[in-house]
Amino acid sequence: MNRALLVGFWCCAGAFGAPSAKFDSDARRWLLRNEVMEASFQLGPAGTFEFRGMHYLTASQDWPAAKSVASAPIRLTLDQSSFDASTMYVLLKEWTSAAPRGGLRQNILLEESRGLGKVLVEIDLYSNLAVLRQGIRYFNTSGRAVHVTAASPVHWDLHAAAASYRALRVEQWMPMPGPNPADFQRILSNVDPGGRVLQTASGAHNHYCSWIAVNDASGQGIALGWEFDGRMTVDLRHQASEQTLQFSSRISGLYHPVPAGEEFQVPRAFAALYAGGPDDAGFVTQRFTEEVLAKPLPPGMPFPAVIWDSWAYGQGIDEETLRREAALAAKLGVEVFIVDLGWARALGDWTPDPVKFPGGMRGLSDYVHSLGMKFGIHFAWPEAAPDSPVLRQNPDWRSSVDYDYYGADSLCLAHEPVRQWIVAEAVRVIDETNADWILQDGENMVKECRKTTHTHHPLDSNYANAVDGLDWILKQVQAHRSHVLWENCENGGNMMTFQMVQNYATSILNDASGARAARQAAYGATFPFPSRYSDRYMPEQSMNAYTARSYLFGGPWILMNKLALLDAPDFEYLGREIARFKSIRETVRDGKILHVTNPPAEGRTDAIAAYDPATDSAVAVVTRDGAAAATFALRVGEFRRDKSYIVTFADDPRILTLTGEQIGRTGISVRLPERWGTEVVTITPAAADGRSRLQ
Ligand SMILES: [Zn+2]
Repeated sequence: MNRALLVGFWCCAGAFGAPSAKFDSDARRWLLRNEVMEASFQLGPAGTFEFRGMHYLTASQDWPAAKSVASAPIRLTLDQSSFDASTMYVLLKEWTSAAPRGGLRQNILLEESRGLGKVLVEIDLYSNLAVLRQGIRYFNTSGRAVHVTAASPVHWDLHAAAASYRALRVEQWMPMPGPNPADFQRILSNVDPGGRVLQTASGAHNHYCSWIAVNDASGQGIALGWEFDGRMTVDLRHQASEQTLQFSSRISGLYHPVPAGEEFQVPRAFAALYAGGPDDAGFVTQRFTEEVLAKPLPPGMPFPAVIWDSWAYGQGIDEETLRREAALAAKLGVEVFIVDLGWARALGDWTPDPVKFPGGMRGLSDYVHSLGMKFGIHFAWPEAAPDSPVLRQNPDWRSSVDYDYYGADSLCLAHEPVRQWIVAEAVRVIDETNADWILQDGENMVKECRKTTHTHHPLDSNYANAVDGLDWILKQVQAHRSHVLWENCENGGNMMTFQMVQNYATSILNDASGARAARQAAYGATFPFPSRYSDRYMPEQSMNAYTARSYLFGGPWILMNKLALLDAPDFEYLGREIARFKSIRETVRDGKILHVTNPPAEGRTDAIAAYDPATDSAVAVVTRDGAAAATFALRVGEFRRDKSYIVTFADDPRILTLTGEQIGRTGISVRLPERWGTEVVTITPAAADGRSRLQ
């Protein structure tokens, strides 16, 4: 980007502060700016539409477009015709409007010069966020039906000033025995400067979360996220000899019909700029996600919540057992009580099992509500047992590929009658059970289906099932019953996308995999996603500091054990740890997540922390997982060096007063006397007299 030109333009425009956009009609150039970044796009002399550059003002970092290739954000293929860097456009109209949730949207309406149609480019900018969100919409004004056969929601050709780059990606959950198991591992890669492609395959039943962060050795970084639940792949390529850093992408199996007069929305994507490393990439992504994308925090309810889920009983549940558990859960301080799989007559037959629940679900729901808890219910809506009434009456509603969820057959959500039926069923289940919370489940929420008898095109099931199926259904049900919160689960967290966060309040990670695995998954997922999207199922029956506190850090803490079988000391211990969870949850939710150590593993001590800039406070969970050393130096570098802080512990009675410099440099000496044990550390500003402000 030409800095001199940019600065000159802005001096003349005299604009500074909240998001603004200016169009220079002579240069046909758009300049978007907020307090922390600016970005530029241009309709070139030949009529090509190009990204020109971004600048991260806070850190004086430049991200100009590549010099050797044009960076053209409109990437679509209609049957045999491609929209690429050489495609020419005529500017029809440009204007600004409000973007959702307080942003500014620059709209640029272009007409493709071959008569293929119109393209609306939407670029959103928000106050104080170094994030650019982009949407491309194609309008078929060609007068004939076309098919979108390729689209690249993530497409940037950047100038690579550095010699080398490092990429961070995070897996989602695909357990064994799949061909390519994944378990929320943090994958750090050196990007090959010789141009070898680094692929990130995301979406339902795929390998990675829909996010990648890339920075050079100086800490100049860019993180990209994409908003699509279906399967797609983002390629990263660094060609040092050409000084290019290129991102391109493709949606799997795309063949979307666009009749004359209709439109096609390319899934939105965003680019976030950061200075530093993985935690900084995470922080800017997470703040943007909370402020712009994510389902807003539930009003009037503490969140992330403490939850109990019935799965310790498997499908062997009944009203009497659950009433007993509900009474105990309320005593412990549980806030949401969820009835998991097994309440209905069968998968797809969403009426209460008359033997287990002779009075229906409403009696139990009323009882749970009377105890002051929310009521949640398991609903595996894309699944139906082979002999369920819905499949007996509509055998063709199955998707052509079956994913075998507890013996059920898969329904094709892209088929019009199926999605209409599911919306009606979801609303009915919510009303009849008076549910506040839906635990969504199923095996692969974006089914593959090549049926010619369905309303979607047989070659388009990935996009159709994701956008027209899953997202459409959620939008409809949530519009009808907006008070209900949804938990994302598909036999675990394997649809970890920036579309998912828009539909759900939280997500499970690696199911009930145990204490260490829960920490490992929360460690990984809290790079791309706000920590409330890492809920953890706790299956353990016996309590100690190592077990219970392995679940303290993250989103909702979901107890998945039999409370009636806990002995009195364990019950009391769990109650105290639940109170502790509630005392730290807002700092963990709102703070910058600091991955202080490497990921948790046996034989190590691991630490994860959240630093909340608004309160200048932090909380850390430090776990000795069989490590030899009985102390750990917890270093947190976010505090003001000359300021004093009070440090307290869950178990250790010491109260320390340390300066920010001491905490960052020598660290807090955390005592971990048990070989398997966990300590919780809170750090708050000291008042002028040296006392904690909390005292
Ligand atoms: Zn189908």
